Amino acid sequence: MPIPLQEGWLYGPVDSRRYGRSLGVNPLPVDRKLCSLDCLYCQYGFTRTQEVAGRAEVPSAQELKIAFREEFERLAKADDIPDRITVAGNGEPTLHPDFFSMSQSLAEARDDFFPGATLGLLCNGMHLHKPDVLEAIQTWYDEPAIKMEWGTPECFASLYQVSPKGYDRVLAGLEALDSFVVQALFVKTPAVDNSSDLEVAGWLKHLDHFKEKIRNVEVYSIDRPPADAAKAEIVGKERLEEIAQQAMDLGLNVEVFTR
Ligand code: SF4
Repeated sequence: MPIPLQEGWLYGPVDSRRYGRSLGVNPLPVDRKLCSLDCLYCQYGFTRTQEVAGRAEVPSAQELKIAFREEFERLAKADDIPDRITVAGNGEPTLHPDFFSMSQSLAEARDDFFPGATLGLLCNGMHLHKPDVLEAIQTWYDEPAIKMEWGTPECFASLYQVSPKGYDRVLAGLEALDSFVVQALFVKTPAVDNSSDLEVAGWLKHLDHFKEKIRNVEVYSIDRPPADAAKAEIVGKERLEEIAQQAMDLGLNVEVFTR
């Protein structure tokens, strides 16, 4: 079963498998998922199911600015200092209509209350063609992590249940970024297996192409069960390590996260 949506604009700090103690930011609706992909493995369940579940009211950049400063002040007074602030939330955060201002307010609040905290972003890469999204990522985020876990447009389309045209769009967006982290989740389903030799070979070609811009590569499999209908299966530690080794052989810094 999928996990419930985040019920607020800020959550945590929580201990994250990938990022240590992390404060989460959800700049999206609190009563439904808002995403441009429909990943078979999404921890929040299928996008199309979630779309009828709520009103999709997105908080304004001004509301978020106030919330950041109030909550950061409260945490600082309680001496509960996050190592990292990660923008993710109930879907794709760059869909926030004022993503640039929201990100600027967050970075400024971070500088004022937790100057040592890294500002991270989990992003599906589908909106990098928008100048304000690109500028926000380049200007305000220390570690933008972009989803890139496929070798072919067919795998992209099956895994994310969208048009294969998104494949070229994401690759074009990555060309425009100066530096990014690769998020690569490997999963097997009856519809698609992005851990197959064919997909991994294509994925390695992408990594090689973007090698100079990639800060590190995060390799993992599903942690939480997605929608039952996806019938998604975990990719085991041994295969993840094999895949990671091939990426390391390109000279990349790779981390493998397993249970
Ligand atoms: S991009 Fe993230 S939030 Fe959107 S469907 Fe995929 S896993 Fe879920």
